[in-house]
Amino acid sequence: MKNFTYTGSPARIVFGSGRSADVGASVEALGCRRALVLATPHQRADAEALSDRLGAFSVGVFAGAVMHTPVEVTETALKVVKDTEADCVVSLGGGSTTGLGKAIAYRTDLPQVVIPTTYAGSEVTPILGQTEGGRKTTVRNASILPEVVIYDPDLTLGLPVGMSVTSGLNAMAHAVEGLYAQDRNPVSTLMALDGLRAFRDSLPVLVKSTEDTDARAEALYGAWLCGTVLGTVGMALHHKICHTLGGSFDTPHAETHAVMLPHTAAFNAEAAEQELKAAAELFGGSIGGGLWDFAKSIGAPLSLKDFGLVEADLDRAADIAVENPYWNPRPIDRTSIRTLLQKAWEGVRPD
Ligand code: NAD
Repeated sequence: MKNFTYTGSPARIVFGSGRSADVGASVEALGCRRALVLATPHQRADAEALSDRLGAFSVGVFAGAVMHTPVEVTETALKVVKDTEADCVVSLGGGSTTGLGKAIAYRTDLPQVVIPTTYAGSEVTPILGQTEGGRKTTVRNASILPEVVIYDPDLTLGLPVGMSVTSGLNAMAHAVEGLYAQDRNPVSTLMALDGLRAFRDSLPVLVKSTEDTDARAEALYGAWLCGTVLGTVGMALHHKICHTLGGSFDTPHAETHAVMLPHTAAFNAEAAEQELKAAAELFGGSIGGGLWDFAKSIGAPLSLKDFGLVEADLDRAADIAVENPYWNPRPIDRTSIRTLLQKAWEGVRPD
């Protein structure tokens, strides 16, 4: 056994069907009495229902969260926090809503309760990505980590099949990169492997029956594990490429992760075969090809072409992806990244 350092997350995790009904108890346990409920415009009705459930503990709803946490939206929300004298936020939604709650907490230190309705995993990380003037920056700070996460699979029953698939693959990418992270530890590896197994078992069931409650619970459990891995250890080439494509070419977040994952896993398997062995076994023996077959079988997007990217964009994407690279188990150079992007653009099965 290699030496390692392990720091457990201090967040409280509440998991189970119907558990979001206890949200008031979570607010009270934090010593708070004036929660502002956050959501995207799309989930306003659900946020209002949650606010009603909070009763006297709610000061209202701010349903203005959007993708990539623009600072202007955070500033508008901060005015509502001030006007309502909110003493905590309750974020109901996916990574975009969680991002807004984190942005408020980062600036005010208000406690957060998050009720995730996708599998993105942001709720268990101390990381905030935000955009200002079209530029995305990332900060990591203890104040950003939500204090309480309520995983209630009932609230994910309405997540459309396509989003369930891509969101699940987005989470799985955190786990795959966690397996070869430089700062991995035995606990992050256990979590990554069981997170991958949970999605391998649940996503095919959800594709056939979106409202299968056991599969929904299994997928949300996978999201917790994979998100925790993201919050605990460093990410590598896969996340760098996805940030490049999302940041410079505006490709959709979860879908980009879904397309890239088999290709980056295959690329890194050459240098991290041992680290990826158990994960490869979960997908038929080959991590890249196995993940691609799995993604195809559940109807995931397979090609960057589908996001409107043209072949010439790949040259610029390769240039950006090799600038300020993250640590990666396999050394990277522009030629190999350009080849990898070409395969992902064409949508071919990686070797
Ligand atoms: P999202 O939060 O943008 O949600 C996409 C859309 O789906 C929204 O309109 C949302 O309201 C809707 N939606 C969410 N749950 C639903 C449900 N159960 N039923 C119906 N509709 C639902 O998508 P996402 O992929 O969860 O989050 C992406 C964002 O999260 C990106 O900005 C990404 O950078 C960020 N993120 C951050 C971290 C981190 O650790 N900082 C980790 C992962 C993702």
